[in-house]
Amino acid sequence: VSVSDRLIKELAGVVGEAHVLASPEAMAPHLTDWRGRYTGRALCVVKPAETEQVARVAALCSAARTAMVPQGGNTGLCGGATPDRSGEAVVICMSRLNRIRALDLINDTVTVEAGCVLQRVREAADARERVFPLALAAQGSCEIGGNLSTNAGGVHVLRYGNMRELTLGLEVVLPDGRVWDGLRALRKDNSGYDLKQLFIGAEGTLGIITAAVLKLYPKPRATAVAWAAVPGPAAAVELLGRLRARFGERLTAFEIIARAALDLVLRHIPGARAPIAGEREWHLLIEVDDHWEDIDLAHAIEEALAAELEHGLVLDAVVARSLAQAQAMWNLRENISESQRVEGYSIKHDISVPVSRIPEFIERAGEALRREFDEVRIVCFGHIGDGNLHYNLSRPISLPDDAFIGQAAAANRVVHDLVARLGGSVSAEHGVGQLRRAELTQYKSPVEMDLMRSVKRALDPFDLMNPGKVL
Ligand SMILES: Cc1cc2nc3c(=O)[nH]c(=O)nc-3n(C[C@H](O)[C@H](O)[C@H](O)COP(=O)(O)OP(=O)(O)OC[C@H]3O[C@@H](n4cnc5c(N)ncnc54)[C@H](O)[C@@H]3O)c2cc1C
Repeated sequence: VSVSDRLIKELAGVVGEAHVLASPEAMAPHLTDWRGRYTGRALCVVKPAETEQVARVAALCSAARTAMVPQGGNTGLCGGATPDRSGEAVVICMSRLNRIRALDLINDTVTVEAGCVLQRVREAADARERVFPLALAAQGSCEIGGNLSTNAGGVHVLRYGNMRELTLGLEVVLPDGRVWDGLRALRKDNSGYDLKQLFIGAEGTLGIITAAVLKLYPKPRATAVAWAAVPGPAAAVELLGRLRARFGERLTAFEIIARAALDLVLRHIPGARAPIAGEREWHLLIEVDDHWEDIDLAHAIEEALAAELEHGLVLDAVVARSLAQAQAMWNLRENISESQRVEGYSIKHDISVPVSRIPEFIERAGEALRREFDEVRIVCFGHIGDGNLHYNLSRPISLPDDAFIGQAAAANRVVHDLVARLGGSVSAEHGVGQLRRAELTQYKSPVEMDLMRSVKRALDPFDLMNPGKVL
């Protein structure tokens, strides 16, 4: 029996034969990423159902010096959950580890396992008059372990922060199979290094997250959603400041959508309709909420936008009059990624700069790209309230896919050099995975890379956790 056959057998002994997939057909969904950009091979896919099983799987892989690739809902956008092409790694699919272990309404926390689908956690909170605020378009399939490992952001970061800010404790299986029980539900804990922060955003390169204690918040009683057209990005960030001054923490989402992004959705998503007539170039989706049930938020946001209309900061605006209208507005925003996928190949950037520098970024990046690439189609949208843009380039109609793919490195360079000059980040919320790995060394200092490598060596001396990702 070969070493790998023996390992497969031992893994089956831990999780049961039915939960070790080794045939190409059974493994296929686990070997390609959501965008279809990366395809790898694996020795097998294992599906543990308990922390203790994950620990034994890790110990076996570690003893056999076999690489491990943790995988959640496989919706990541950087190829982080896709194994390399060696066919030697074991993919550890976390989806069966999906219990909600505890919900503490006095402490306002929920303890969930890594394989819980985000939507289910949101629903469990909602059923108890709480909100778990992480919200993103992939919430029906992404899992808490993946959200933690990519430090996911989404549309409510403006008010609640990203996954890092929503997490109090973690349980992690280390590469050698030891379990770190850091499932503390404390809002104050200064007893030494905050180890959970190492694993959040580590994209499975330091250990396998098996459970987490997450923060809950009171459920808002009133919500209003508005769609506004503005003269440009400078007006958008100025409006952000004015609405913040007026609504404070009630401002929960502030998203920008360029005409080109809206047009893709109108073209590809059946039933999609523009909330505002005419050919306006820049659009905003704005959400406010409150805990007072009888407050007329729709009126409040309408009044605020009407005042800005007089000052010329807003060109046109409409406030949703029903839940269905609000949902229709959100659907436009949430279907941009899907519409881009249907439209064909795109070169994606997930960048952040200080909010104050967003207008400069959009102007200078647009100029530089149009100078270097004929007919470039810029699809710009995203969480402008957090200084985070999805600044994507769709394939020019006249250009074949491979010619366009050939331009990716040069286009990345233009965009990311500018981001660096403006003090920004080349990965705001999607992570590094395989996609941005080479660029890290380009844009981070040798000191920072050295610190990251030291952490990696300390936790994973044999480079078994998701090798070839991040570092
Ligand atoms: C339509 C769409 C919209 C999106 N919108 C947003 C958005 O608004 N904001 C945002 O931040 N992201 C967004 N994303 C990407 C986002 O990163 C993922 O949706 C999500 O956070 C990843 O979860 P997942 O369970 O699918 O992880 P996967 O794709 O399975 O894995 C992602 C990474 O985490 C690692 N990992 C997974 N589980 C574990 C674990 N238990 N322990 C250790 N490592 C693990 C993997 O190895 C991989 O490196 C979007 C994706 C799609 C498809």
